[in-house]
Amino acid sequence: MSKPYPHLLAPLDLGFTQLKNRVLMGSMHTGLEEEKNGFEKMAAYFGERARGQVGLIVTGGIAPNRAGWVAPFSAKMTTKKEAKNHELITQEVHKEGGKICMQILHAGRYGYHPLAVAPSSIKSPISPFKPWKLSQSGIEKTIKSFIRCATLAREAGYDGVEIMGSEGYLINQFIVSKTNKRKDEWGGSYENRIRLPLEIVSRVRKAVGDDFIIIYRLSMLDLVHDGSSWEEVELLAKRIEESGATIINTGIGWHESRVPTIATMVPRGGFSWVTRKLMGKVGIPLITTNRINMPEVAEQILADKHADMVSMARPFLADPEFVKKAMENRRDEINTCIACNQACLDHVFKQKRASCLVNPRACYETELNFTPAQQKKKIAIVGAGPAGLACATYAAQRGHEAHLYEASSEIGGQFRMAMSIPGKEEFVETIRYFKKQMELHKVHVHLNTEVSKEIIEQGQFDEVVIATGVKPRIPDIPGIDHPKVLSYMEVLQGQKEVGEKVAIIGAGGIGFDVASYLLEKAEAPISTEAFMEQWGVDMAHQAKGGLGEASLGLPLRQIFLMQRSDGKLGRKLGKTTGWIHRASLRKHGVQMIGGVKYLKIDDAGLHLDIKGKAEVLDVDHIVVCAGQLSNTKLAKQLASGSTTIHIIGGANEARELDAKKAIREAADLAAGF
Ligand code: FAD
Ligand code: NAP
Ligand code: SF4
Repeated sequence: MSKPYPHLLAPLDLGFTQLKNRVLMGSMHTGLEEEKNGFEKMAAYFGERARGQVGLIVTGGIAPNRAGWVAPFSAKMTTKKEAKNHELITQEVHKEGGKICMQILHAGRYGYHPLAVAPSSIKSPISPFKPWKLSQSGIEKTIKSFIRCATLAREAGYDGVEIMGSEGYLINQFIVSKTNKRKDEWGGSYENRIRLPLEIVSRVRKAVGDDFIIIYRLSMLDLVHDGSSWEEVELLAKRIEESGATIINTGIGWHESRVPTIATMVPRGGFSWVTRKLMGKVGIPLITTNRINMPEVAEQILADKHADMVSMARPFLADPEFVKKAMENRRDEINTCIACNQACLDHVFKQKRASCLVNPRACYETELNFTPAQQKKKIAIVGAGPAGLACATYAAQRGHEAHLYEASSEIGGQFRMAMSIPGKEEFVETIRYFKKQMELHKVHVHLNTEVSKEIIEQGQFDEVVIATGVKPRIPDIPGIDHPKVLSYMEVLQGQKEVGEKVAIIGAGGIGFDVASYLLEKAEAPISTEAFMEQWGVDMAHQAKGGLGEASLGLPLRQIFLMQRSDGKLGRKLGKTTGWIHRASLRKHGVQMIGGVKYLKIDDAGLHLDIKGKAEVLDVDHIVVCAGQLSNTKLAKQLASGSTTIHIIGGANEARELDAKKAIREAADLAAGF
C-alpha cells in the first residue's frame, strides 16, 4: 500500500533539529495551567499527544510577567521555581519521543485585570479594564521579561518558544495603528510599530542561542478595521525572519473581530489561502491554521503549497492519536473535532477546565479512564443518541458485552437533526466515529427495536442503561393543534412543507438552528469564497485588516423568532458562538421578539401580547421549539420491576441538556461498570 498522506507525514528539517512530520499541535489554554496538581495533569495530557506522534506541540500561553496575565493569577514564567514545575511536562513529552515549545503570551489590553498594559490607554471592546499606557522603560522591561521567559523555558527543557504576535494581544496591539497612538519611537510609522516584535525576536534569539526553536505567530489577517495591510504583513514576515525566527505561524483575526474564524460554520481549511500568499516571500517554514480537522484536509493544503506545515489545536483535544491513526491508514477511527467550542473555548471563557464534547477524557487523562473490566458484564443500552452511543462504545472498549437498542432505523438520535442545520454538517463525523468504534469493539446494535419491559426482562442483563433521550415540549396555547403548527422535528426531518412567513416559538439553541435552516438553502458545505463574501472578508486584502463589504443572498423566508422572557434572545447560546448565530439571523432580517405572551393560534395566525400590546402575526406556519421533556416511558415501565437501571442523557434530565452533558454522563457511567 502507498504511504498515506505523503506531504503531511514528511519530516521537516529545521537545520539544528528535525520534526517527524508537518503537524503542529497549536496552543490552547486549558485551565490546567492554574489548577492544583495541574503540572501532573498537563504532563499526562501532553504526553498522550506526543505518543500519538504529533510533530511539534505548543503549550497554552504563559505570561512573561504579571501585567501580561490573561486573567488574574494566570500562568506566568518569571522565576526558576516556576520554570522547574514545567520539567514534568517536557520530560514526559521527550520520553514519548515528542517535541514541545512553550508559548509566551502577553495579553496587553486583553488582560482581564486592572494591571493590564498596552501601547496606548485604549480599552478593548471585549474587556472592562482600561489598560495603562506603557512607558518607554516599561517597554524595555517588557522586552526583558520576554527574554527571561524564553531563557527559563529553555532551562525547563522546552525545545523552543512560540512568541504570540497575533490575535490582538500586546504585540499585535503595538503593530496596528488602531491600538497604537504613540508618538515616540514605538508608534507612528510602521517601522516604529513593528519595533517591539523585532526587538523581542532578535534579543530572544541572542539569549537562547541558535539551537532553539523560535516560532513567531504573525497576524496575517487582523479582521479589524485599520488593521495591517498585506504589504505590511509581508514586510513584517521578512523582518521577523531576519531577526532570527525559525518558523512563522499564522494568526487569523483578533479576538474582538466579528468574523467567525474557527466555529463550525467556517469551511474546513477556510483560511489557508492567507498563508499561501506569503509562501515564497520568506525562506523559513510557514504554518497555516484554522478549521483543519481531518488528515485529507491537511494533506491537500500542503500538496497545494499553501504552507509548509499545518497547525491543529482542538483536533488534538478530540483525538490524541490523530497523527498515529493517519499514519496507520485508520482515518475512519479519528474522533473529529466538530468545531462546536462547547467544551473547550466556552469553558475557558467561563474559567472552567477545558475538555471536549466528543472526547470527555480530554484534560481528564489522569481521572477518566476506560480500563479493562475486572468482570465481563452483559449490558443493555437503550437509545442510540449521543448518550447511548458513547455508553455502548466505552463499555465495550472495556470488554463488556454491550447491546445497543434503537427504535428508529438509524443511530444518532437528535444529533441527526443537528447535522441537517447549515453550518453544522461536521456533526455527522461524530456519528461516523461512534459507528466505527462500535464495530471495532463489537457492540451488538439492534436497530428498529423499540425496547419494552419484556425485551429487558428476557435479555437477562447485568446492567440496563436508559438513554431514551427527549421529546419536544408542547406548550399549552389555545389552537396548538391547528394545521399551521409544526414541531421542529417535522421541519428538520422534512416531513412537512414550510411556507414563506414563519413564526418560531422558543429562541433556545433549537429555535436559532431552525431559523438558520429555514433561511438558507441546504447547499452544504459552503465554499470558502462564499463564506468570505457573506462575512465581508476581502480576500484580495486591499482594505487594511482585510475587511470589506459583507454580501448576503436573499433570505428564503421572513422569520419571527420569539421568547416569553425579556432580555437578549439567544443569551444561553455558547459564549464564543452565540454572537455568530445572533449576527447571522440579524443579517438575514429575522425579527427577534422577547417578552411575548402567546394568546392563541387560529386561521389568522399567531395572536400575541407583546409587552401589553396585542398583535397578530399573519404567518403561514408556526414552528414550536419550546424546549424538551425527558422521554421516561421505558424508565417508568422498568421502575416497578426488579431490574436495576441507570438513566443518562436527556432521559435523565432535559433541562440544560446538550450533547456534551449526555456524552460525559455516559463516559462516567461506563468507566464504572
Ligand atoms: P437523544 O439524542 O434524544 O437520543 C435518544 C434515542 O433513544 C433516540 O434515537 C430514540 O429513537 C431512542 N429511543 C427512545 N426510546 C426508545 C426505546 N424505547 N427503545 C429504543 N430506542 C429508543 N447539542 C449540542 O451539544 N450542540 C449542538 O450544537 C446541538 N445542536 C442541536 C441541534 C438540533 C436541531 C437539535 C434537535 C439538537 C441539538 N443538540 C445539540 C442537542 C443534542 O442533540 C441532544 O442534547 C442530544 O442528542 C441528547 O442525547 P441523548 O442521547 O440523551 O438523547
Ligand atoms: P432551550 O435552550 O431550553 O430553549 C427553549 C426555548 O423555549 C426558550 O427560548 C424558552 O424561552 C422557550 N420555552 C420554554 N418553555 C416554553 C413554553 N412552555 N412555552 C413556550 N415557550 C417555551 O431548549 P432547545 O432550544 O430545545 O434546545 C435543547 C438543548 O439542545 C439545549 O439545552 C441546547 O443546549 C442544545 N442545543 C445546543 C445548540 C448549540 O448551538 N450549542 C444548538 C441547539 C441545541 P421562554 O421560556 O423565555 O419562552
Ligand atoms: Fe472540537 Fe467541540 Fe471538542 Fe472543542 S469541544 S475540541 S470544538 S469537538
